[in-house]
Amino acid sequence: MPANFPAGEPGLLDQYGRRATDMRLSLTDKCNLRCTYCMPSEGLAWLSKSQVMTAEEILRIVRIGVDRLGVRELRLTGGEPLVRADLVPIIAGLRAAHPDLPISLTTNGVGLAKRAQALKDAGLTRLNISLDSLHPETFAQLTRRPFLDQVLAGAEAASRAGLGPIKINAVLMRGINDGGAADLLGWSLQRGYELRFIEQMPLDADHGWTRDNMITAAEIRALLAVKFELSEDPRDRDGAPAERFEVRRPGSAELLGTVGIIASVTEPFCADCKRTRITAEGKVMSCLFSRVEVDLLALLRAGAAEADDDAIAARWQQAMWAKPKAHGMDHVGLGSAGFVQPDRSMSAIGG
Ligand code: SAM
Ligand code: SF4
Repeated sequence: MPANFPAGEPGLLDQYGRRATDMRLSLTDKCNLRCTYCMPSEGLAWLSKSQVMTAEEILRIVRIGVDRLGVRELRLTGGEPLVRADLVPIIAGLRAAHPDLPISLTTNGVGLAKRAQALKDAGLTRLNISLDSLHPETFAQLTRRPFLDQVLAGAEAASRAGLGPIKINAVLMRGINDGGAADLLGWSLQRGYELRFIEQMPLDADHGWTRDNMITAAEIRALLAVKFELSEDPRDRDGAPAERFEVRRPGSAELLGTVGIIASVTEPFCADCKRTRITAEGKVMSCLFSRVEVDLLALLRAGAAEADDDAIAARWQQAMWAKPKAHGMDHVGLGSAGFVQPDRSMSAIGG
């Protein structure tokens, strides 16, 4: 393993030979839901406005990533990105600067119906909507807010606006929404949405995650098998985190669509990871589970005389060089001391 970052290396390379080309940028730590696997019921101590990157700072950091460091796709996330009043102008600015960059957004869908067309017109490429249950009470229990109708309307509006193929992200919680997994798949297939189940990770602010209680990818496949037949999608996975399955009714040859399972805990894909993350306050996190954060915002604000784009790019490269080999999550509760849950919750990192 080389000890130092190789001179002249143009990209976001790490010491294990992985190159990050997929940028996840958090626009805010705030959110209007309180999903139990992410946020505490009372919310968190939000960052002040001055701590969060401005639209100009976001545009500059993305420009450095794309023009100098080999970033090839961008996902905007949070917290809830739709709570940012300047979301549409941010996307328009990004699109004007990078006409060919795939730009996607991960949202909980609350308030999306009103803004879907404006997001499309600004240049957004695609949307992921998080939806864990189609039952109003279960939805409200999981998110601690009664907004299911808004999310459903948001998904329809996004589809009409041409922001497809819409991906639906779902997290299953034992005894709460796991019984609805197959129905969620049937509903998604009917509408042409691509459903992906994400194994619950230890990124909840309440630190209530346990390895024993989380629903594994193997269990998710069994829950879906009650109504559907799954077979491995023959297409190349190409480093994508979701393992994709073709879906058919038992005994039928007709292909209904596909479903993805992101087994971050039990079948981790760290060896193929292409992600670099920037938090809402401009810190690089080389991994969701990294306990090291490298501040770029102070450099961005220092002024060109102190820190030009070269200096910012170099600090970002150094941060990524130190990316851990793997997160070691699956050892929690199994006797290994290799994993320590980060202090930040998913919402505060940017999922
Ligand atoms: N608020 C937006 C949303 O919910 O889509 C964007 C941010 S959210 C942190 C991004 C994704 O992370 C969501 O799909 C959510 O379900 C997922 N997520 C949050 N906490 C998680 C956890 N502990 N384990 C697995 N996925 C989680
Ligand atoms: Fe908010 Fe998304 Fe976290 Fe739910 S998962 S609390 S919607 S940031």
